[in-house]
Amino acid sequence: MRWKIGDVRVTKIVELESVGRTKFVLPQATKEAILALPWLMPDFADAEGRLKMSIHSLVVETPARKILVDTGIGNDKEGRGIPTWNGLATPYLDRLAAAGYAPNTIDTVLCTHLHVDHVGWNTRLSRGAWVPTFERARYLFGRVEYDYWKGRRDDPYETAVFDDSVKPIVDAGLADFIRPDDRICEEVSVFSTPGHSPGHLSVRIRSRGEEAVLSGDVAHHPCQMAHLDWASTFDSDPAQSTETRRALFSDLAGKPTIVIGGHFVGGHVLREGEAFRFKPVVPR
Ligand SMILES: [Zn+2]
Repeated sequence: MRWKIGDVRVTKIVELESVGRTKFVLPQATKEAILALPWLMPDFADAEGRLKMSIHSLVVETPARKILVDTGIGNDKEGRGIPTWNGLATPYLDRLAAAGYAPNTIDTVLCTHLHVDHVGWNTRLSRGAWVPTFERARYLFGRVEYDYWKGRRDDPYETAVFDDSVKPIVDAGLADFIRPDDRICEEVSVFSTPGHSPGHLSVRIRSRGEEAVLSGDVAHHPCQMAHLDWASTFDSDPAQSTETRRALFSDLAGKPTIVIGGHFVGGHVLREGEAFRFKPVVPR
Protein backbone atom coordinates (compact mmCIF):
# COMPACT_ATOMS: atom_id res chain seq x y z
CA MET A 1 0.00 0.00 0.00
CA ARG A 2 1.53 3.27 -1.12
CA TRP A 3 0.62 6.95 -0.77
CA LYS A 4 2.04 9.88 -2.75
CA ILE A 5 2.73 13.28 -1.19
CA GLY A 6 4.13 15.52 -3.91
CA ASP A 7 7.48 13.99 -4.86
CA VAL A 8 7.49 11.66 -1.83
CA ARG A 9 6.17 8.10 -1.75
CA VAL A 10 5.16 6.37 1.48
CA THR A 11 4.92 2.58 1.32
CA LYS A 12 3.50 0.38 4.06
CA ILE A 13 5.44 -2.82 4.74
CA VAL A 14 3.38 -5.18 6.88
CA GLU A 15 4.90 -7.37 9.55
CA LEU A 16 1.71 -8.64 11.24
CA GLU A 17 -2.01 -7.96 10.78
CA SER A 18 -4.81 -8.72 13.19
CA VAL A 19 -8.59 -8.52 13.55
CA GLY A 20 -9.90 -8.40 17.10
CA ARG A 21 -8.08 -9.46 20.29
CA THR A 22 -7.18 -5.83 20.95
CA LYS A 23 -8.52 -5.65 24.50
CA PHE A 24 -4.95 -5.75 25.84
CA VAL A 25 -4.17 -2.44 24.16
CA LEU A 26 -7.54 -0.62 23.98
CA PRO A 27 -9.77 -2.05 26.74
CA GLN A 28 -12.51 0.57 26.25
CA ALA A 29 -13.00 -0.36 22.60
CA THR A 30 -15.70 -2.94 23.19
CA LYS A 31 -17.62 -4.39 20.24
CA GLU A 32 -20.68 -2.36 21.23
CA ALA A 33 -18.70 0.89 21.39
CA ILE A 34 -17.10 0.18 18.01
CA LEU A 35 -20.39 -0.73 16.33
CA ALA A 36 -21.59 2.74 17.38
CA LEU A 37 -18.93 4.20 15.04
CA PRO A 38 -20.10 2.93 11.62
CA TRP A 39 -17.48 5.05 9.78
CA LEU A 40 -14.85 2.59 11.03
CA MET A 41 -16.26 -0.14 8.75
CA PRO A 42 -14.91 -1.76 6.69
CA ASP A 43 -11.41 -0.28 6.68
CA PHE A 44 -10.72 -0.08 10.41
CA ALA A 45 -13.13 -2.61 11.93
CA ASP A 46 -15.15 -5.60 10.77
CA ALA A 47 -18.93 -5.98 10.81
CA GLU A 48 -18.77 -7.54 14.29
CA GLY A 49 -17.04 -4.50 15.77
CA ARG A 50 -13.58 -6.06 15.98
CA LEU A 51 -10.68 -3.68 15.36
CA LYS A 52 -8.38 -4.16 12.39
CA MET A 53 -4.77 -3.34 13.22
CA SER A 54 -1.33 -4.00 11.84
CA ILE A 55 2.27 -3.79 12.85
CA HIS A 56 4.10 -2.20 9.94
CA SER A 57 6.94 -0.01 8.77
CA LEU A 58 6.53 2.98 6.49
CA VAL A 59 9.21 3.62 3.87
CA VAL A 60 9.44 7.32 3.06
CA GLU A 61 11.12 7.68 -0.32
CA THR A 62 12.08 11.22 -1.27
CA PRO A 63 14.02 12.12 -4.43
CA ALA A 64 17.22 11.84 -2.35
CA ARG A 65 16.49 9.52 0.58
CA LYS A 66 15.01 6.18 1.61
CA ILE A 67 13.84 6.47 5.21
CA LEU A 68 12.38 3.50 7.08
CA VAL A 69 10.01 4.70 9.82
CA ASP A 70 9.52 2.18 12.66
CA THR A 71 10.76 -1.37 12.42
CA GLY A 72 8.18 -3.73 13.91
CA ILE A 73 8.92 -6.61 16.26
CA GLY A 74 11.66 -8.43 14.35
CA ASN A 75 12.44 -12.11 13.93
CA ASP A 76 13.97 -14.41 16.55
CA LYS A 77 13.44 -12.00 19.46
CA GLU A 78 12.87 -13.49 22.92
CA GLY A 79 11.78 -12.21 26.31
CA ARG A 80 8.84 -10.22 24.93
CA GLY A 81 5.96 -9.40 27.26
CA ILE A 82 3.49 -10.56 24.62
CA PRO A 83 4.34 -14.27 24.20
CA THR A 84 3.26 -14.53 20.53
CA TRP A 85 5.90 -11.91 19.66
CA ASN A 86 8.69 -14.28 20.71
CA GLY A 87 10.56 -16.23 18.05
CA LEU A 88 8.82 -14.66 15.06
CA ALA A 89 9.84 -15.82 11.59
CA THR A 90 8.00 -13.49 9.23
CA PRO A 91 9.09 -12.68 5.64
CA TYR A 92 9.27 -8.97 6.51
CA LEU A 93 12.65 -8.42 4.83
CA ASP A 94 11.42 -10.21 1.69
CA ARG A 95 8.38 -7.94 1.61
CA LEU A 96 10.61 -4.91 2.02
CA ALA A 97 12.83 -6.07 -0.85
CA ALA A 98 9.80 -6.93 -3.03
CA ALA A 99 8.55 -3.37 -2.56
CA GLY A 100 11.88 -2.16 -3.96
CA TYR A 101 13.72 -1.54 -0.71
CA ALA A 102 16.35 -4.18 -0.06
CA PRO A 103 17.93 -3.53 3.37
CA ASN A 104 21.15 -2.11 1.91
CA THR A 105 19.17 0.57 0.03
CA ILE A 106 17.78 2.10 3.23
CA ASP A 107 19.86 5.14 4.20
CA THR A 108 17.93 6.18 7.31
CA VAL A 109 15.97 4.36 10.02
CA LEU A 110 13.75 6.55 12.17
CA CYS A 111 11.99 5.21 15.29
CA THR A 112 9.02 7.33 16.43
CA HIS A 113 9.61 5.82 19.87
CA LEU A 114 11.48 2.88 21.37
CA HIS A 115 8.68 0.40 22.16
CA VAL A 116 9.00 -3.30 21.34
CA ASP A 117 6.91 -3.13 18.13
CA HIS A 118 8.80 -0.14 16.67
CA VAL A 119 12.46 -1.16 17.03
CA GLY A 120 12.56 -4.91 16.35
CA TRP A 121 14.01 -4.98 12.85
CA ASN A 122 16.71 -2.51 13.82
CA THR A 123 18.70 -5.68 14.38
CA ARG A 124 18.77 -9.26 13.17
CA LEU A 125 20.35 -12.38 14.62
CA SER A 126 23.65 -13.34 12.99
CA ARG A 127 25.74 -16.18 14.44
CA GLY A 128 24.23 -15.65 17.86
CA ALA A 129 24.70 -11.88 17.92
CA TRP A 130 22.33 -8.97 17.27
CA VAL A 131 23.70 -6.97 14.36
CA PRO A 132 22.26 -3.94 12.51
CA THR A 133 19.83 -5.05 9.79
CA PHE A 134 20.35 -1.84 7.81
CA GLU A 135 24.14 -1.64 7.71
CA ARG A 136 24.32 1.41 5.47
CA ALA A 137 21.76 3.45 7.41
CA ARG A 138 22.02 6.06 10.10
CA TYR A 139 19.50 5.24 12.82
CA LEU A 140 17.66 8.22 14.30
CA PHE A 141 16.44 7.94 17.90
CA GLY A 142 14.82 10.75 19.87
CA ARG A 143 17.26 12.02 22.49
CA VAL A 144 14.59 12.25 25.22
CA GLU A 145 13.20 8.82 24.33
CA TYR A 146 16.62 7.16 24.26
CA ASP A 147 17.72 8.64 27.58
CA TYR A 148 14.46 7.51 29.20
CA TRP A 149 14.74 3.86 28.14
CA LYS A 150 18.48 3.71 28.72
CA GLY A 151 17.85 4.64 32.35
CA ARG A 152 15.18 1.98 32.99
CA ARG A 153 16.70 -1.35 33.99
CA ASP A 154 13.98 -2.76 36.31
CA ASP A 155 11.57 -4.44 33.89
CA PRO A 156 13.07 -7.51 32.16
CA TYR A 157 10.78 -7.11 29.12
CA GLU A 158 11.86 -3.50 28.59
CA THR A 159 15.49 -4.37 29.19
CA ALA A 160 15.39 -7.18 26.63
CA VAL A 161 14.07 -4.83 23.94
CA PHE A 162 16.65 -2.16 24.65
CA ASP A 163 19.52 -4.62 24.80
CA ASP A 164 18.77 -6.57 21.60
CA SER A 165 17.24 -3.85 19.38
CA VAL A 166 18.60 -0.46 20.45
CA LYS A 167 21.94 -0.89 22.21
CA PRO A 168 23.61 -2.85 19.35
CA ILE A 169 22.91 0.10 17.02
CA VAL A 170 24.54 2.57 19.39
CA ASP A 171 27.45 0.17 19.98
CA ALA A 172 27.95 -0.10 16.21
CA GLY A 173 28.20 3.69 15.96
CA LEU A 174 25.16 3.93 13.69
CA ALA A 175 22.88 5.98 15.98
CA ASP A 176 22.18 9.70 15.82
CA PHE A 177 20.05 11.39 18.45
CA ILE A 178 17.40 13.83 17.29
CA ARG A 179 15.16 16.41 18.91
CA PRO A 180 11.68 17.74 18.14
CA ASP A 181 11.58 20.05 15.12
CA ASP A 182 14.75 18.56 13.64
CA ARG A 183 14.72 18.37 9.86
CA ILE A 184 15.73 14.99 8.41
CA CYS A 185 15.84 16.15 4.79
CA GLU A 186 14.18 18.76 2.61
CA GLU A 187 10.74 17.15 2.79
CA VAL A 188 10.81 15.39 6.18
CA SER A 189 10.92 16.69 9.75
CA VAL A 190 9.86 15.46 13.21
CA PHE A 191 7.80 17.06 15.96
CA SER A 192 7.02 16.28 19.57
CA THR A 193 3.91 14.20 20.38
CA PRO A 194 4.45 12.95 23.96
CA GLY A 195 2.16 10.82 26.13
CA HIS A 196 2.34 7.37 24.60
CA SER A 197 6.01 7.49 25.56
CA PRO A 198 8.01 10.37 27.05
CA GLY A 199 9.89 11.31 23.89
CA HIS A 200 7.46 10.18 21.20
CA LEU A 201 8.04 11.89 17.83
CA SER A 202 5.75 12.17 14.83
CA VAL A 203 6.96 12.71 11.28
CA ARG A 204 5.82 15.50 8.94
CA ILE A 205 6.25 15.20 5.18
CA ARG A 206 5.79 18.22 2.91
CA SER A 207 6.29 18.25 -0.83
CA ARG A 208 4.82 20.41 -3.59
CA GLY A 209 2.13 21.83 -1.33
CA GLU A 210 0.98 18.40 -0.13
CA GLU A 211 1.40 17.10 3.41
CA ALA A 212 1.32 13.88 5.41
CA VAL A 213 1.83 13.12 9.09
CA LEU A 214 3.10 9.75 10.29
CA SER A 215 1.63 9.78 13.77
CA GLY A 216 3.29 6.70 15.26
CA ASP A 217 1.36 5.64 18.35
CA VAL A 218 -0.29 8.98 19.17
CA ALA A 219 -3.33 6.79 18.49
CA HIS A 220 -3.25 3.03 18.04
CA HIS A 221 -6.52 3.06 16.14
CA PRO A 222 -8.86 5.67 14.59
CA CYS A 223 -11.51 4.86 17.23
CA GLN A 224 -9.38 7.05 19.52
CA MET A 225 -10.25 10.02 17.31
CA ALA A 226 -13.86 9.63 18.39
CA HIS A 227 -12.83 8.92 22.00
CA LEU A 228 -9.76 11.03 22.65
CA ASP A 229 -9.56 9.79 26.24
CA TRP A 230 -9.30 6.13 25.26
CA ALA A 231 -5.64 5.90 26.15
CA SER A 232 -3.86 2.69 25.27
CA THR A 233 -2.69 0.51 28.14
CA PHE A 234 0.86 1.23 26.96
CA ASP A 235 0.58 5.03 27.19
CA SER A 236 3.11 6.16 29.81
CA ASP A 237 1.06 9.31 30.56
CA PRO A 238 -2.62 8.89 29.59
CA ALA A 239 -3.57 12.49 30.40
CA GLN A 240 -0.73 13.75 28.20
CA SER A 241 -1.51 11.30 25.38
CA THR A 242 -5.15 12.46 25.43
CA GLU A 243 -4.01 16.08 25.22
CA THR A 244 -1.63 15.23 22.37
CA ARG A 245 -4.43 13.53 20.43
CA ARG A 246 -6.69 16.53 20.96
CA ALA A 247 -4.01 18.97 19.82
CA LEU A 248 -2.86 16.99 16.79
CA PHE A 249 -6.29 16.05 15.47
CA SER A 250 -7.61 19.59 16.09
CA ASP A 251 -4.73 20.90 14.03
CA LEU A 252 -5.32 18.42 11.18
CA ALA A 253 -9.13 18.29 11.09
CA GLY A 254 -10.55 19.27 7.73
CA LYS A 255 -7.12 19.58 6.12
CA PRO A 256 -6.02 17.48 3.14
CA THR A 257 -3.10 16.14 5.22
CA ILE A 258 -2.85 12.35 5.00
CA VAL A 259 -2.41 10.83 8.45
CA ILE A 260 -0.85 7.36 8.67
CA GLY A 261 -0.61 5.65 12.05
CA GLY A 262 1.87 3.19 13.44
CA HIS A 263 -0.91 0.58 13.38
CA PHE A 264 -3.51 1.87 10.88
CA VAL A 265 -3.59 2.99 7.25
CA GLY A 266 -3.85 6.51 5.90
CA GLY A 267 -6.79 8.86 5.98
CA HIS A 268 -8.04 12.38 6.57
CA VAL A 269 -9.11 13.65 9.99
CA LEU A 270 -12.58 15.21 10.04
CA ARG A 271 -14.28 17.06 12.87
CA GLU A 272 -17.30 15.27 14.36
CA GLY A 273 -18.96 17.22 17.17
CA GLU A 274 -16.53 17.54 20.08
CA ALA A 275 -14.20 14.92 18.64
CA PHE A 276 -13.12 13.56 15.26
CA ARG A 277 -13.54 10.78 12.76
CA PHE A 278 -11.27 9.39 10.06
CA LYS A 279 -11.85 8.92 6.34
CA PRO A 280 -9.49 6.46 4.67
CA VAL A 281 -7.48 7.67 1.68
CA VAL A 282 -7.37 5.21 -1.17
CA PRO A 283 -3.70 5.02 -2.13
CA ARG A 284 -2.76 6.39 -5.54
ZN1 LIG B 1 3.06 0.43 18.64
